[in-house]
This record gives sequence, structure tokens and C-alpha cells, in this order.
Amino acid sequence: MQKNKISSQTKKPKLLLATTNQGKAKEFIDLLGPLQIDVLTLSDLKTRGPTFPEAVENGSSFHENAVIKADHYLKSTRLPTLADDSGLCVWALDGRPGIHSARFGGESISDPERCRKLIALMEQKTDRRAWFETALALKVPASDRVMCWRARLEGVLTYQPLGTNGFGFDCIFVPEGFTRTLAQMTINEKNLLSHRSLAIAEMVKDVEEIKKLLAGCGEEL
Ligand code: IMP
Repeated sequence: MQKNKISSQTKKPKLLLATTNQGKAKEFIDLLGPLQIDVLTLSDLKTRGPTFPEAVENGSSFHENAVIKADHYLKSTRLPTLADDSGLCVWALDGRPGIHSARFGGESISDPERCRKLIALMEQKTDRRAWFETALALKVPASDRVMCWRARLEGVLTYQPLGTNGFGFDCIFVPEGFTRTLAQMTINEKNLLSHRSLAIAEMVKDVEEIKKLLAGCGEEL
């Protein structure tokens, strides 16, 4: 699989990935290889000078938030923009923390503290089922069209944190069919089954349509 550089100078169609998270960007760039596009991130744009206000993610679903982000950065940059939104949903908590995953338990607490708070909330619950969800949205200039993809990774919550890899809620989530948490897996193992990679796999199925859409876009920022 060919790997795109984050900001190569080739004349391949450009796509802005609406994230500053380099780990996430690398995962996307690896998996988007078949599209043969030049992927830039918000961090790449910052190093070139222009900075943009952050998108206000006030949607009521992962899908809405992904579309809000794609729309916001497309308007700021005029570049075709791919945005994602994801989080953890727990059946026994009616889908919470869901779209509030990043701030669950408080703005300024650490990921391990967030996990401990969730485990405490689940203390009396025997239904441990949960899922990670990702929504992706692609918007291009001069078109009202939004292409969207989504995927879920089903699993169960543990009773205590296990493992040190990954981030967020990885250490308390065991994917269906496995006996280890995502934090007990290597990054490569996780990437093979993660909700993000499943959503990107859905997107890659539409490679020809995406290429056509991107080919009709201007090159410049
Ligand atoms: P984001 O929309 O991908 O930035 O994710 C929002 C929040 O959901 C993160 O801050 C994490 O708490 C949680 N989350 C999303 N994806 C994952 C994952 O793959 N592992 C663990 N936690 C995740």
C-alpha cells in the first residue's frame, strides 16, 4: 500500500484532515493510501501560517459533529475536508458518554481518571456492553454534497483498567471476540479492528467516487 506524506509537494488532489492529532492522522494517511491523495492536517496548515478558529461541535450525534467540522474547515480553507467524530457509548448508560466522551467526568481530568469515573458509574451494572463509534464526513468546495461513513466496534467494559497502550477508554474496553482490552493490544493490532479503521474501510470502498469529487476541486488553499 502506498503511503502519502503528510504534506508532499506533488500535484495529487489535496485533502484536509480536520485533526491536529498526529497519531490519528498517521492512521488515516496509512489507510487512505489507495486514494492516492495529498493529505494535509490542521497542524500542517498551522506551520504554513494561517490559523483558524476551532469548530464548535454542538451537534447531537457523531454524524452531525463530523459534518459541522468538515463544513467549518472547508469554509476556512476552501480545501476538500475530511472530518471525524468518535466516542464510547455504553448500553447500560443509555449511550453515554457518547458525543461527550472527550470531556466525560470533567474538562481537565486525565484519561485514566476518566476511565475510573466510568468504571465507578458502572459498579452495579451487570450489562457491560458498549461500543466505540466513528462518523466520517467529507465535503468539497463548490458542492453541497456531503459524503458520510460510520462504523461501530462492539465490546464489553471491564471492571478495572487493564493495559497501558492506546488512549481514552482503551484500557477498559474488550472488543467482541477478544479477551484483552484495546490497551493490552499493540497499536497495529488495534488499528486492524478499531472503529476508525472500520469507518475508513467503508470510505475506501467509495474510492472512485471520492477521486472524481476531488478531481473537480481546485488545488490551492
Ligand atoms: P475523537 O472524536 O476521536 O477525538 O474522540 C473523542 C473521545 O472519545 C476521545 O477523547 C476518547 O475519550 C474517546 N475515544 C475515541 N476513540 C477512541 C479510541 O479508539 N480509544 C479510546 N477512546 C476513544
